[in-house]
Amino acid sequence: MSGYYLAPALEVLRDEINRRWPGRDRGSDGWIGDAAHQAGRSDHNPNDRGSVDAIDVDKDGVDVSAVIAAVERHPSAHYWIYQRQIADRDDGWRRRPYTGSNPHDHHLHVSIRQSKEAEQDRRPWGLLEDEMSTKAENEIHQVYVGLFNGGSSMGRSVDPDGAGAAKGSNSIVAKLDYLLSRLDGVAAGVTTLAGRDWTDEPAIVAGVLAGLGPDRLAQALTAAGLTPEAIAAAVPPDMARQVVDELTARLAS
Ligand SMILES: [Zn+2]
Repeated sequence: MSGYYLAPALEVLRDEINRRWPGRDRGSDGWIGDAAHQAGRSDHNPNDRGSVDAIDVDKDGVDVSAVIAAVERHPSAHYWIYQRQIADRDDGWRRRPYTGSNPHDHHLHVSIRQSKEAEQDRRPWGLLEDEMSTKAENEIHQVYVGLFNGGSSMGRSVDPDGAGAAKGSNSIVAKLDYLLSRLDGVAAGVTTLAGRDWTDEPAIVAGVLAGLGPDRLAQALTAAGLTPEAIAAAVPPDMARQVVDELTARLAS
């Protein structure tokens, strides 16, 4: 028979196996039936569409149990044979003893359904996606943990109210909350400062004097040999009266 081909679904499976285990032994691989197969009924013989609906995969250098698991998940799969066992989709993939002449102790046999749909189904068997999705899932999990739970490797802990590090969370979200609360404080401070007249000397003098108690003020003035009048003489005329009044009031209190 000419014009036969391996079913595309099995091409995808073989390609995934080759890519996942590139150094594997292919000595017991096979797909098209030999003369012995062709003498009888075998999925290794081309059907009337020319499709060969079975492959053999050498067991050496591959994780056969991973391949079997992938086979049992794929909708095209019909049955597999390995190490004197056979499992059929129509039997819920229950493993039964295989009593054929070939014990299949060097290769895994995989048959798909004898239908055009099964043969042409090119969806993945999952042998490559498994590894990638595990890695991707781990990375996504790490990002999630960092975002919402934080951890000891998250750098400086947050201190939202200045009362100490925030309890429970040191996450990126908590850090952003903290940063925003600090920015709110900075914005409020800038607004206050923006409304203040920094050329208002009387206000500044009053502010400085307000910080000095009468005892300390008197001490300082005496130590410097200054009287209130002498100080007033040293400041601009329009401020002198206010300073004298303030000093007098504080010394008297
Ligand atoms: Zn076979």
